[in-house]
Amino acid sequence: MQFTKLRLVGFKSFVDPTELLIHRGLTGVVGPNGCGKSNLLEALRWVMGENRPTAMRGTGMEDVIFAGAASRPARNYAEVTLTVDNSDRLAPPAFNQTDKLEVVRRITRDAGSAYKANGAEARARDVQMLFADASTGSHSPALVRQGQISELINAKPRARRRILEEAAGISGLYQRRHEAELKLKATTANLERVDDVLGQLE
Ligand code: ATP
Repeated sequence: MQFTKLRLVGFKSFVDPTELLIHRGLTGVVGPNGCGKSNLLEALRWVMGENRPTAMRGTGMEDVIFAGAASRPARNYAEVTLTVDNSDRLAPPAFNQTDKLEVVRRITRDAGSAYKANGAEARARDVQMLFADASTGSHSPALVRQGQISELINAKPRARRRILEEAAGISGLYQRRHEAELKLKATTANLERVDDVLGQLE
């Protein structure tokens, strides 16, 4: 899967609709301090399902919405669209109907986030899994924020292992294992309850 386009509306400093075409190979973003380079990387992480406001340098997720400037009022929503070339048809079945996959995340003040994939509503978890399985998830080591290299050098082995797992595309498996363990626990509790009821009937 190859990212081909990023579109931002009302996301942080990108108040007006802004489209960036992403070509094959290395992409560099250059510009003066404060022009929004890091905001672009954060938009990529966010549309792939990042849910930690701190990873967006904010205290709440609504901080990603354009907060207003001297000459512009604040916006009520932020939207990021990521277009992915899926001509290799490697996306999971729910997303694999077309060669071009368009994932949209929108956050509205007081109404939270919603996702769409090719126009249809999608669950946050499915979008997160889609990108985690493709090794490009919101925690992907391919997205390097400022200060991250020194953090990595000083990281504990456990944190380093997580980065290798993300690169290997197996972090989605951990999430699935966690969900399966929760289901197993709930089922065990239900079985115990059934045993109790049967015991009372006997
Ligand atoms: P540097 O090169 O210094 O790291 P940068 O190009 O990476 O800078 P960013 O950190 O991406 O720049 O952008 C910072 C700018 O984004 C600041 O001007 C800040 O005011 C603006 N900004 C961040 N969040 C919002 C928001 N919610 N609404 C409006 N502007 C915002």
